[in-house]
Amino acid sequence: MASYTGTGDAGPADEEQAGTGGVTSDGTGAAARRDRAVRAAVEQGLLGPASPIVGLLDITGIRASAAALRDAFDAVTAPGTPVLHAFAVKATPLVPVLRLLHAEGIGAEVASPGELALARAAGVPPSHTVLDSPAKTPAELREALALGIAVNADNPQELDRVDALVRSAPTRSPLGLRVNAQIGGGSIGALSTATATSKFGVALRDEGAREWVVRAYLDRPWLTRLHAHSGSQGVPLELMTQGIAHTYELAEEINERAGRRQIDTLDIGGGLPVNFGSDTHTPTYAQYARLLAATVPGLFDGRYGLVTEFGRSLLAKHGVVLARVEYAKSAGGRAIAVTHAGVQVAARTVYAPESWPLRVTAYDAKGRPKTGPDVVQDVAGPACFAGDLLAEGRSMPLLEQGDYAAALDTGAYYFAHHYTYNSLARPGILGFGPDGADGVRFAVVRTPQTLDEIVAESGGAHPDALTDSL
Ligand SMILES: *Cc1c(COP(=O)(O)O)cnc(C)c1O
Repeated sequence: MASYTGTGDAGPADEEQAGTGGVTSDGTGAAARRDRAVRAAVEQGLLGPASPIVGLLDITGIRASAAALRDAFDAVTAPGTPVLHAFAVKATPLVPVLRLLHAEGIGAEVASPGELALARAAGVPPSHTVLDSPAKTPAELREALALGIAVNADNPQELDRVDALVRSAPTRSPLGLRVNAQIGGGSIGALSTATATSKFGVALRDEGAREWVVRAYLDRPWLTRLHAHSGSQGVPLELMTQGIAHTYELAEEINERAGRRQIDTLDIGGGLPVNFGSDTHTPTYAQYARLLAATVPGLFDGRYGLVTEFGRSLLAKHGVVLARVEYAKSAGGRAIAVTHAGVQVAARTVYAPESWPLRVTAYDAKGRPKTGPDVVQDVAGPACFAGDLLAEGRSMPLLEQGDYAAALDTGAYYFAHHYTYNSLARPGILGFGPDGADGVRFAVVRTPQTLDEIVAESGGAHPDALTDSL
């Protein structure tokens, strides 16, 4: 196996984004870049009365996070260790983002035919792609094995299907099994993958399960990987690390009973939580890698290749949704800014505001950060239900008609995850970076959805389906 990212001689990875073009881990660089981009978007007419909502992606920041991830693991792995960092496509399913990450040495973790299609459209090669979904059909498995994509089977029935495929045709796909060490959940139930009753993987602590897993490997010499993904937003690093320690110990046991190094690669998943409270990156990849290395040193001594599957932590802090304040009003003494960003771009925050609070900042009509006394206000979205609020009772400079509200840290699991409530259009997404002359250059990542597209995606080709034929 060839090394994917290059390893070994990276410098100290103490600073999350040290050495990457003046980008700092405390986020001052990111905030300044964001402010300049908002101003430039307004000045260049990309945001305004006629285009009242847009998502922006900070190309410099994405590159810096990719570098921080590579450096963090390079700093703790033995030279020559093959390491594949596969971006969890579900976090930001956008082809140009996958292409940018690919250019930065990051592969793709996919979990559906759609995500695989996106990774392929971005040019991510099969050797840098991992398929993990919990509900793979026989057709999906057959395609993955034909392409040589790494596959982690989720359960015994899926392993049966893989057995049949492996018997019927040779494959280059590295094959593994997903396990759940049942270490317990984090603070967000819906995102906790390692609870006793989680739907993912083989539950290791269930009666007989561990022995079943060991036998599954002993019976299948081609099963060479072991996969666990126990982290997520709300899960502390120590708990994530514990899950990986259990997975490592299981691999050691299997290899010992096999009498050879049958498992040659451990896929440790993603799940690094993100700080949604400020521009500071914390925890950092470097902190996580160092904690892993201190807790599970055998993971990095070169005997195992490594796969990681980070999603949120690579992209979240590099996206922002900008939405024009269409109206500013007040009700019951509460100031309310009615903007164009709500449940359609921030479904999690709107439906579960306690778990997913977002920072919202205010810019004036020219795109300059607003100053002035803090006023308690609601930042509302455009959808027709009362709970459609990006922020409720938030203290910030008063948003007035024609201003812009910015929902920060929305680069992962937000604006690319459109929710079609009220048939609100998917907003356009622009990447931004320096133009080389002290200005900001934008690139179209996704065009806004058109009304024709909304009609077409809403049965527009079949208007008489229910009236004529029945
Ligand atoms: C969602 C997911 C990831 C990415 O999780 P993040 O919290 O976004 O880092 C990685 N692996 C698997 C199997 C997943 O389901």
